Amino acid sequence: MNKIGWSFDNTYAQLPEILYTRLAPTPARAPGLVLLNHVLANKLGLDFSDMDEQSCAALFAGNRLPEGAEPIAQAYAGHQFGHFTMLGDGRAIVLGEQVAPDGKRFDIQLKGSGRTPYSRNGDGRAALGPMLREYIISEAMHALGVPTTRALAIATTGEPVHREQPLRGAVLTRVAASHLRVGTFEYAAMRREIQLLQQLTDYACQRHGFESAPKENNALTLLKGVMNRQMDLIIHWMRVGFIHGVMNTDNMAISGETIDYGPCAFMDAYDPGTLFSSIDHAGRYAFAAQPRIAKWNGARFAETLLPLLHNDQDKAIAMAEETINGFGEIFQQRWLEMMRRKLGLIGREDGDAALVDTLLEQMKQQGADYTETFRALTYGNTPSDPLFQDKAFQTWHQQWKDRQARQPGDAKETLAMMRNANPAVIPRNHKVEQALDAAANHNDMKPLQELLAALDRPYEDRPELEPYQSPSAPGERVYQTFCGT
Ligand code: AMP
Ligand code: MG
Repeated sequence: MNKIGWSFDNTYAQLPEILYTRLAPTPARAPGLVLLNHVLANKLGLDFSDMDEQSCAALFAGNRLPEGAEPIAQAYAGHQFGHFTMLGDGRAIVLGEQVAPDGKRFDIQLKGSGRTPYSRNGDGRAALGPMLREYIISEAMHALGVPTTRALAIATTGEPVHREQPLRGAVLTRVAASHLRVGTFEYAAMRREIQLLQQLTDYACQRHGFESAPKENNALTLLKGVMNRQMDLIIHWMRVGFIHGVMNTDNMAISGETIDYGPCAFMDAYDPGTLFSSIDHAGRYAFAAQPRIAKWNGARFAETLLPLLHNDQDKAIAMAEETINGFGEIFQQRWLEMMRRKLGLIGREDGDAALVDTLLEQMKQQGADYTETFRALTYGNTPSDPLFQDKAFQTWHQQWKDRQARQPGDAKETLAMMRNANPAVIPRNHKVEQALDAAANHNDMKPLQELLAALDRPYEDRPELEPYQSPSAPGERVYQTFCGT
């Protein structure tokens, strides 16, 4: 064991070479350390406290490889906004798999680490702002209890990246259960080598604990398991008001983690059509479209697995369809369970779906803030917002109280249930933008550090959360978010 605690075991690099290219990160000219997540490091069994800052910077910029690393760029394909494309890690390198003290395995990936054979016309680099953005949002998602990749560190490269203007280049160290995507399977399926597909399927099942009954077809196990995890993931997104923004199949992880934070954002005022991404003109990936897109992506995944599902193609298609077609109804049931928790409803009543729908419709009409409204309901507050002053809402409120009065369990139980489902704080867009502007353009890390601290325990009410809780004031509102490329 080395002093840092690296414990790499690189199983992906044992798979057929067609799935990746062996390649080291491109060294950066003048690495500088910006952020290092010691809490996450600790969980991974790593300790950087004795490493000087310059050595950390060199490590996280990709200039110095950790012991045991076998760097690779992964190959994958994907459907982007509905269209099939060849992709791959165009600006990322997986260094290897760190096995944590608890036995869990994590990919350590550098994002923004230079060109690869999959870069197409890109420069292989990333700008500091978008990497900081991924750091903030992915760590906030983790604290919110949403499955997600995480951020271990950010280093600047000392080189400019040229976008619409020159920006500071940076590398994000991303930690993920794996980087297997639906797009990885699309890539393997496109090669029409059934053995490759089977190897990848076996690998995914083993790595992510999808267990088949004896003699059960593991492609079907994988398909069902992945759809199940995606369902849970999207329900978490809907619970906290998260909009991913680029739900292309290459950004859908087999592990069920949220991956690739590009133009993502949290919804303020409730509107199912909410959309921030500057590149999504058709609203394909709007807030309420996310379940439907997860199902669509699942259908692309199922298609890749057809040759493994059954020798008889018609039977294979029937198996795939049964799984995919069942998605909508099960989703609806689990979504309703989640909304019941948000409203502190114990047990089930026939009228629950209508009760939830009525509230959401009124919130939409009144432009009520998603996070604040549920938090106010949790604590029985009656803010001066238009929603709470509205007659129709007051009628709804009484119906809701009546529903709660009929249920078993005491007020303490409902309060705990609602508190755990409804965050007190989310990374509000205007706060994120302010922190990023200070950090990336004015070298002032203080707002960002304070934001990270506020987002660390999002279900606990703390006085210091106050500045982060309210929606944007006029003039602060963020209307669009941009891809990190
Ligand atoms: P994303 O939108 O981040 O999921 O990226 C889509 C694809 O574009 C992936 O294959 C990325 O590796 C690639 N890509 C994004 N930015 C760059 C860049 N600056 N240089 C090279 N490839 C990139
Ligand atoms: Mg991506």
